[in-house]
Amino acid sequence: MRRLPGYVLSLALFCAACSPQPNDIRYEFFALGTDVSLTLYAVTPQQASVAAELLESYYADAGHHWYPWAPGELQSINAAIASGSKIAVSARLADVIRRAAEIEAASNGRFNAGLGLLTELWGLDDLSNSPDAIPSYADIAALLAQQPGARRLLWDGNRVSSESTSVKIDLGGIAKGALLDDGIALLRQQGINNAIINLGGDLTVIGNVHERRARVGIRAPTADSPIAFLDAASGETIVTSGNYERFVEIGDRRYTHILDPSSGFPVTHTVSVTVVHEDALLADAAATAMMVGGADEFDALCKALDIDYALLIDASGDMHLTSGMRARLHFVSDGHVTRRLRERLHSISDRRLTGGTRERLHSIAYKPLFN
Ligand code: ADP
Ligand code: MG
Repeated sequence: MRRLPGYVLSLALFCAACSPQPNDIRYEFFALGTDVSLTLYAVTPQQASVAAELLESYYADAGHHWYPWAPGELQSINAAIASGSKIAVSARLADVIRRAAEIEAASNGRFNAGLGLLTELWGLDDLSNSPDAIPSYADIAALLAQQPGARRLLWDGNRVSSESTSVKIDLGGIAKGALLDDGIALLRQQGINNAIINLGGDLTVIGNVHERRARVGIRAPTADSPIAFLDAASGETIVTSGNYERFVEIGDRRYTHILDPSSGFPVTHTVSVTVVHEDALLADAAATAMMVGGADEFDALCKALDIDYALLIDASGDMHLTSGMRARLHFVSDGHVTRRLRERLHSISDRRLTGGTRERLHSIAYKPLFN
């Protein structure tokens, strides 16, 4: 899956490198299991290369320490929890885990970052190695009866233990958001004030693009082109969670990587959720929670999580929008995007689709939005 190692520098850099003048420079690299792009506006080549190098190395590090499936800090924390002991946690990871627990409480458990064992039951921790059958109801029920969740963690300063050994911390639903927050802080420390970081479709904008707001497309689950776009204010993050992006195939069915903590089953009633917020960590966790809550809980979760801008597409293809989102989104009729618009879109919030997934979803019809 991994493409070119290190940076793939765009042509713009080569031009920029010829002169010390500020320019737009784009970097692409692979990190955190996804394609990352960093676009810097009006920067000098020197400033850009220092910032890009720091960012890539920070994300490479987080790839080891923030995910439970590879050796690193989170794996050690989970091993300590499983053995009933207490372990010291680094400051940033402790902060993210505590916020995950807060969002678990606020979302009434729709978001739950303590379900690593359920993810494993479904074989979602290793997508290259699908299980032969779905987990048994008895195994799912036995795990859920132990009530795993980040809320069961007990903190003693920076040391953590758990009330239950059934908790396995999985930050997959919140890590990218937290890492967008961190990436932007890192850019600002380098004196960069106009940029977009895009982590596989989840992105944060700071500053402007040539004195205008960055125009960001939101891709349809069913097609390559955007269904809508909006102009992002400085500091805003746009996150999209979808049931079509990562899945495990068991028999002839696909099961998405987003699990409903109350049933223990993958979510089927929501296709995608897009959230815009200034707090990237919250936007990421909220999009995952709202995938689980579905259309029925859309309003309640927006309120509980303090989300003003959200769009949910349910399994029948109906869209649900907050009034704030409705006012900001510009819909592209029938997914038709003119070349001019495409050129003016600075980034896309999306999930890359496989041909098969697209086919599976092509029957979704979008209902009229403004009537
Ligand atoms: P992505 O990270 O691909 O953008 P999400 O933000 O929706 O997508 O996160 C999905 C990941 O979150 C899953 O791969 C899993 O690690 C974790 N997860 C699955 N279900 C939940 C849930 N109900 N609450 C919190 N995290 C979840
Ligand atoms: Mg998420």
